[in-house]
Amino acid sequence: MSEASNGFCRDCLAPAPTEGRRCPACGSPRLLRHPDLHRLVIAHVDCDAFYASVEKRDDPSLATKPLIIGGGKRGVVSTACYIARISGVRSAMPMFKALQLCPDAVVIRPNMEKYARVGREIRRRMLELTPLVEPLSIDEAFLDLSGTEKLHRASPALVLARFARDVEREVGITVSVGLAANKFLAKIASDLDKPRGFSVIGLTEAAAFLAPRPVTTIWGVGRAFSERLAADGFRTVGDLQAADPARLASRYGALGLRIVKLARGSQLEAQERRLGSDLLRGPCRPRRPPADPARTGGARLLRSQA
Ligand SMILES: [Mg+2]
Repeated sequence: MSEASNGFCRDCLAPAPTEGRRCPACGSPRLLRHPDLHRLVIAHVDCDAFYASVEKRDDPSLATKPLIIGGGKRGVVSTACYIARISGVRSAMPMFKALQLCPDAVVIRPNMEKYARVGREIRRRMLELTPLVEPLSIDEAFLDLSGTEKLHRASPALVLARFARDVEREVGITVSVGLAANKFLAKIASDLDKPRGFSVIGLTEAAAFLAPRPVTTIWGVGRAFSERLAADGFRTVGDLQAADPARLASRYGALGLRIVKLARGSQLEAQERRLGSDLLRGPCRPRRPPADPARTGGARLLRSQA
């Protein structure tokens, strides 16, 4: 696996030439290119429509059908497969509404024990890549791959592509990867190209990428705070980038400084990118293998799966 080029094939992992739409080695169109590809080390990995993917894996007759995992007629949608999403079905939607939108959907009750088992297997594989795994839920986690290049003899980007490929082949479900310089951007990236996605947001492009997006893109900016920001003239992340940090700090306190930092994505200090000292959640040390997801509480497991 050479890393001479700033791109590779996500199917055969061969280096990609700088031009051309298909891999010369295997013919796949899934080429990944980015100038920072082999320099970025923070990833967000998120399974695609996790519960639905597990059920489709276990019953191939469901593969081409719209599938909803949820709690029966009076419940809500836990996960909708991508086919059901075409009809507008979304996580957390009341089931009766989902079935109005997609009357042909197959509905399956969640089998949390099974999903936890698959989640543990994927977590185990993540921990083979790095001890710095920060789970967000049963099916998604941040990974800090800094310093792992010698161990793996490959850049984090290649290691992640191989991970995604192997999970698909060996576990039977697909994941999407976001690779960036910090968690905030990695989380946005993983969502850009679902399912089977791999998106990169480099430092130099972060600010421009974020600028047109609504302020709610920034973690911690919910509806109430976004309304307050809008009243002060801040509607997009770009509005915050252009603002005087001192003004934001005096108006919104520590939160103001935090959002201006996140808005400026490209100017985050190196030490703030790591899982260990982060802008998004509390401090997080290198983790022991995480607790059994089946025991971390039903409510958390039942959280909607993207
Ligand atoms: Mg997910």
